[in-house]
Amino acid sequence: MYLKNSKIIVIKIGSSLLVDENKKIRKKWLSSFAKDIKKLKDKNQKIVIVSSGAIALGCKKMNFNKKNIKLDKSQAIASIGQIELMNLFSQTFSKFKLNISQILLTLEDTEERRRSLNAKRTFENLFELGFIPVVNENDTIATTEIKYGDNDRLASRVAQITNADTLILLSDVDGLFTKNPKVNKDAKLIKIVNDINKDLKEINIKGINEYGSGGMQTKIEAAKICQLAGSSMIIANGLYSNPISKIIEKNNCTWFSPKVSKLHARKKWIISSIAPKGNIVIDDGAKKALKLGKSLLAAGIKNVSGRFNKGDHIKVLDKKNNECARGLSSFSSDEVKKIMGHHSNEIQKLLGYVAKSEVIHKDDMVEV
Ligand code: GLU
Repeated sequence: MYLKNSKIIVIKIGSSLLVDENKKIRKKWLSSFAKDIKKLKDKNQKIVIVSSGAIALGCKKMNFNKKNIKLDKSQAIASIGQIELMNLFSQTFSKFKLNISQILLTLEDTEERRRSLNAKRTFENLFELGFIPVVNENDTIATTEIKYGDNDRLASRVAQITNADTLILLSDVDGLFTKNPKVNKDAKLIKIVNDINKDLKEINIKGINEYGSGGMQTKIEAAKICQLAGSSMIIANGLYSNPISKIIEKNNCTWFSPKVSKLHARKKWIISSIAPKGNIVIDDGAKKALKLGKSLLAAGIKNVSGRFNKGDHIKVLDKKNNECARGLSSFSSDEVKKIMGHHSNEIQKLLGYVAKSEVIHKDDMVEV
């Protein structure tokens, strides 16, 4: 796994890399970052930047304290700060003859298939034009329920949509440690993670959650999405100047290797959903059928929770509430409530109209 072999690289930078604790913009650092990007671009590598900082720069302009602002105010602050953020990028990157564009995403843009395909096409066209898309969450309209909330997971979904080879999360620590390095002298940097569940079993992620702007938890969730998408992911320290060159030269960071996945792009997208809208609990017979690659029928459903519409992402749980699959529902949650436990030939009578017989078709489902 080498960065130099990556054709498409997504790089996420957090607010703390752009604005220091004295609210000063780290202009020198951003220049050194742009210089690194120029080197990658000169080698024909395609770059996407996911940058936070709208709220931090909005607060700076308005002289507000980030901690004291409520959500609706923070949406306005983000609207003020986003333009500051893009001006900062544009001014710095133009010095290196790099062209940037802006993409603001809301959760639905990656979680709805049609919209995610539209976004994919936009990224591809920007690559063709030689532009570097700079992405942020559309904070100005995102409310709590429909928010990524952290740019780590947003960046991993962007990596998946763009088919990136590598996602780099630039953080304020060198990577993932065995313990919290700020309080444990014997904490060791984990250089490579092949299997997230196995390799990190002994590690208390919550216990080392203090550092890193989005916390380690969201970074591990991002890594899971990347593994399934077949992208490598790196957690590296972005506080140094020339942070990308540092990764190439020193490799003092944590790499998450991708899983070799034979899943079709659509199924990769289904399995990586960030916000499933509901759960369906199934019996053992249905679980067995799923394992054999069959569709989920109403007869095997024991319970349903959450509110979802036809086409929404849902989780399939076994009797012990362990997740066994994810898929797109062919029915709304209200409809599932009416037909669960019933044989397929009763569906028409129960609903009063002709409908499919599968609650989740096998082509719309991925086993976990
Ligand atoms: N989108 C937010 C901003 O631009 C930041 C979210 C995050 O830091 O993860 O301020």
